[in-house]
Amino acid sequence: MESYIGLGSNLDNPELQLEVALAALRDIPDTSLVKYSSFYRSMPLGPSDQPDFINAVALLDSGLKAGQLLSQLQSIENRQGRVRNGQRWGPRTLDLDILLYGNQVIDEPGLTVPHPGIRHRNFVLMPLLELAPDLEIPGLGRVDELSDAAGNVGITRLDLARNAG
Ligand code: ATP
Ligand code: MG
Ligand code: MG
Repeated sequence: MESYIGLGSNLDNPELQLEVALAALRDIPDTSLVKYSSFYRSMPLGPSDQPDFINAVALLDSGLKAGQLLSQLQSIENRQGRVRNGQRWGPRTLDLDILLYGNQVIDEPGLTVPHPGIRHRNFVLMPLLELAPDLEIPGLGRVDELSDAAGNVGITRLDLARNAG
């Protein structure tokens, strides 16, 4: 199944955290990393007394079920020093969220897909638009229209050269 994954970090060298996470995504069993977006710098959501985030989106093609994929993502977060201290949207070394899993709609304890934050988060919509301009998000609509509506306040695309090769 094709699955879009949102990556975010704002602690301990965020750009390096994302590079390491991309390498880890390549190593998930029964899964390939198809492509990934540019990196984006964005203002924090929620508590503003924390560093800016670096965000990106990756496209995986995985034979795992959504729940199995989430477990793999959480173990990558933990390996990269993610500490869950209970503060919602607080600073973190790495956040890996399942944005989309094919066109499935999943509403289970611990797993909601499409990810409920997509609609209002330009740091998710802009990289998604970059990867898949024709994407249709189940229940929400076209990514280009959603991205237009969310606007580009507080977000900057970083040097495209980083994706060369
Ligand atoms: P947000 O989900 O608003 O981006 P967050 O990413 O900081 O916030 P986390 O602390 O990473 O939240 O995850 C909290 C819980 O969200 C996880 O335990 C996980 O079970 C649940 N969750 C539900 N849907 C998803 C999803 N699509 N991707 C990742 N985690 C999810
Ligand atoms: Mg998140
Ligand atoms: Mg998360």
